[in-house]
Amino acid sequence: MSNKTPAERLYAIVEQGLCIGCGLCQTVAGKDAQGKRRVSVVKTSNGYLTPVIESELDHETVDRIYATCPGTRVEGLPSRLIEADTRQDNVWGPWRRMVRAWAADPVVRFEGSTGGVLTALAAYLLVSKRVEFVLHVKTSSSEPSFGEPTLSFTDADVFEAAGSRYGPTAPLLNIDEILERNQTFAFIAKPCDIGALRNYAKQDERVDRLMRYCLTLVCGGFGTPQSTNAFFRRVGIEPDTVTGLRYRGRGCPGPTRVETTETVQEFHYIDFWGEDETTWALPFRCKICPDGIGEAADIAVSDTWVGGSPNRVDSVDDPGVNGLIARTAAGEELVAAAARDGALTIDYDIIPDTLSLYQPHQVNKKYSAWARHQGLGDAGRIVPHTEGLRIEELALDLPEEANRFQRDGTRQRVENGKASEPTPEKA
Ligand SMILES: Cc1cc2nc3c(=O)[nH]c(=O)nc-3n(C[C@H](O)[C@H](O)[C@H](O)COP(=O)(O)OP(=O)(O)OC[C@H]3O[C@@H](n4cnc5c(N)ncnc54)[C@H](O)[C@@H]3O)c2cc1C
Ligand code: SF4
Ligand code: SF4
Repeated sequence: MSNKTPAERLYAIVEQGLCIGCGLCQTVAGKDAQGKRRVSVVKTSNGYLTPVIESELDHETVDRIYATCPGTRVEGLPSRLIEADTRQDNVWGPWRRMVRAWAADPVVRFEGSTGGVLTALAAYLLVSKRVEFVLHVKTSSSEPSFGEPTLSFTDADVFEAAGSRYGPTAPLLNIDEILERNQTFAFIAKPCDIGALRNYAKQDERVDRLMRYCLTLVCGGFGTPQSTNAFFRRVGIEPDTVTGLRYRGRGCPGPTRVETTETVQEFHYIDFWGEDETTWALPFRCKICPDGIGEAADIAVSDTWVGGSPNRVDSVDDPGVNGLIARTAAGEELVAAAARDGALTIDYDIIPDTLSLYQPHQVNKKYSAWARHQGLGDAGRIVPHTEGLRIEELALDLPEEANRFQRDGTRQRVENGKASEPTPEKA
């Protein structure tokens, strides 16, 4: 047993750059005898959403947080969802079907982040009465660059929440209250959020009983609050004056639209993210992510830009085409039914190598994750527990020098203070 206090152990997840602000530990920590939350996930002084301790914590509670937090535990698809005829790709994980697709409704396709597939599938789940609501996220009502959880009960609600949010977003913030509704639901969120809820299913039987579908987006990481503010300043906007931010959508990727009290300005995705992976400013947890490809979901959906980024010329009139991986029998059936009933347009079937062309950064990250985790261990840091993600096997395919480079690089990053965050304090 470590000689740290429970509070020090919880804050170590944040201080070591492993918290992605999913919101789950607020529920896992529960309430004290006075009915007060022991932990709240709120905006803290470093600009992220992180846990803050509100009432006394014990080691047993922190053990339960470590067993569910996506910063400390990442697992692949539960084995009960892998069928005998499910195919396995070493990089892309379990899959039953891969296609290029878009929302059949041109308005949804236009409004969506890429081709509106997640919005189309979520609306189809509601209108076909497969679930009672969809838990996903919309733009935050208080922080224009953040997302916040939302429950959609109609296709109009789902449509309202279309689009990608690249700022801090805690979809699991009030999952205790959401489960108390005792209604069936689908969950749409980032791979780490999906993994968190799958982890929590082992502590709360309501998750598997009520959650009928998990849909996710292939995820390269979200933008740091610092880089978003730097973007605003680069384009001549004071961050404090921003009243609205739409990262993308309305075309693919569509404009990055910034509203202030005085103006509305539109920029290109490349103005926000830069030309390619080397310019992405990401939280540390995203740099060591062993699963940006949504292995624990029924369906994972991506962009289809060859090389991983759009270019300014082709994106002018790009209507948006999603890559789609159906990993489970339920996911495969949903895609077929949505296409049959006119909610989804399938372009054609693809294979894992096609996705690797669209997502070279995901391939690189999957191969690097194990050595990066070894580097964390070398530096005396928490090493996330991983299962069913093949990261060691992939790393062993690489030359020894390549793994050494990643491992030493991560250790150095830790030693240089680039993988550390301050102890959380409410902003
Ligand atoms: C942080 C982030 C990183 C990404 N990185 C990549 C990448 O590396 N490669 C790639 O191919 N695609 C990436 N995407 C996915 C891409 O931007 C599209 O979201 C995806 O192709 C789905 O498009 P769509 O048109 O089907 O989505 P839509 O129909 O617009 O639906 C999007 C859905 O995602 C939910 N959502 C949006 N943002 C968040 C969030 N921050 N957290 C939880 N749920 C959210 C919304 O609630 C909505 O239901 C990323 C998205 C995000 C949010
Ligand atoms: S990643 Fe989620 S569960 Fe882990 S510490 Fe952060 S908010 Fe809590
Ligand atoms: S890269 Fe990984 S940790 Fe970061 S937001 Fe995406 S799924 Fe979560």
